Amino acid sequence: MNNFKYLKISNSEEALHNISNLQNSKFLAGGTNLIDLWKYDLLNPDTLIDINELQDLTTENETADGSFFLGALLTNAETAHHPVVEEKYPLLSRSILAGASAQIRNSATNGGNLLQKTRCYYFYDAALPCNKRNPGSGCPAIEGSNRMHAILGTSEKCIAVFPSDMCVGLAALEAVIQVKGLNGERLIKFEDFHTLPGETPEIDNTLAEDELITGIILPKEGFAENFSYLKLRDRSSYAFALISVATGLKLENGLIKKARIALGGIAHKPWRVKEAEDFLIDKKPDEENFRTAAEMIIKGAKGFGDNDFKIELSKKAIVRNCLMALDPTESQRPGAKPAL
Ligand SMILES: Cc1cc2nc3c(=O)[nH]c(=O)nc-3n(C[C@H](O)[C@H](O)[C@H](O)COP(=O)(O)OP(=O)(O)OC[C@H]3O[C@@H](n4cnc5c(N)ncnc54)[C@H](O)[C@@H]3O)c2cc1C
Ligand code: SF4
Repeated sequence: MNNFKYLKISNSEEALHNISNLQNSKFLAGGTNLIDLWKYDLLNPDTLIDINELQDLTTENETADGSFFLGALLTNAETAHHPVVEEKYPLLSRSILAGASAQIRNSATNGGNLLQKTRCYYFYDAALPCNKRNPGSGCPAIEGSNRMHAILGTSEKCIAVFPSDMCVGLAALEAVIQVKGLNGERLIKFEDFHTLPGETPEIDNTLAEDELITGIILPKEGFAENFSYLKLRDRSSYAFALISVATGLKLENGLIKKARIALGGIAHKPWRVKEAEDFLIDKKPDEENFRTAAEMIIKGAKGFGDNDFKIELSKKAIVRNCLMALDPTESQRPGAKPAL
């Protein structure tokens, strides 16, 4: 490990001045991803700016328009178990609790979760080429071992997936990310936050290097009546998603009035197809309609060998999760019979 400077910062202005002025500096939140990357020799910051004492990033409050603000430094556990989140945004609670382990969720923060790096095995091996880590060096996953990789939104440069569970829930809820730079604050729509690899797989999101995530805003509609999060993985706990689905439905008089379906584990960002959600409006919430929506969402998917199975499995997961959302209490009870 290289020598490095450690700064403990107590206000966001100071944090922003330091990140702008000190070359090769990094914010430290829970450290659950950053320290791993450091140990794997994938980054070597000269200065670590510890932001854990920024009080304004640990607040949460309901706003006049009915939305809910969650500070970037609240831990994933604090967020999942917050009474307002449990009551109004249970889809977010479920997606967070499907991820990592209790210990990691106690340290991992909301801001860090948004910025976690892919779990592509080649990315984590500094001895191998990887366009995301070392642009222009190649992508061994395309011809190699790619069971966990993307089937949608890929490029010739990179087929990695974004591994977060929490962000799949946030995508379905159409959260907004609040960020701050030296020139002030701005809001980023969730769908505009993470990016596809295209020609620049080294870029994961639209946050500038000298900006701080200050919080997440959850809009009023929380889909608390009809929601479900389904995570398919190789082990039943402590494993990243092969495929995950977050569904929120609004039903009236037996018809769907609003639908949100977001997928994780299949692309470089949480995946939504608005045409499929629009197709469901004023339709009956039945298997046939959910199957049509699933075909629309997975349209154009391409496998790379080991991950071909994800194409059919994603469609089944969407249908199953939408049916589970019709009765969240029963379908998510431990030991409940699957909807399909
Ligand atoms: C063994 C293991 C299993 C896991 N399993 C899952 C899983 O199943 N599902 C899942 O979703 N996640 C999983 N995770 C990932 C975990 O959720 C992330 O590591 C965590 O959310 C990162 O948050 P952190 O606060 O520790 O971030 P850190 O590691 O402190 O930071 C991560 C990055 O974000 C930057 N950063 C942090 N906060 C801010 C901010 N406010 N503004 C600007 N930049 C910031 C840091 O500089 C760094 O670049 C797992 C992690 C581990 C180690
Ligand atoms: S898929 Fe992306 S992260 Fe993985 S080896 Fe290829 S370029 Fe690197």
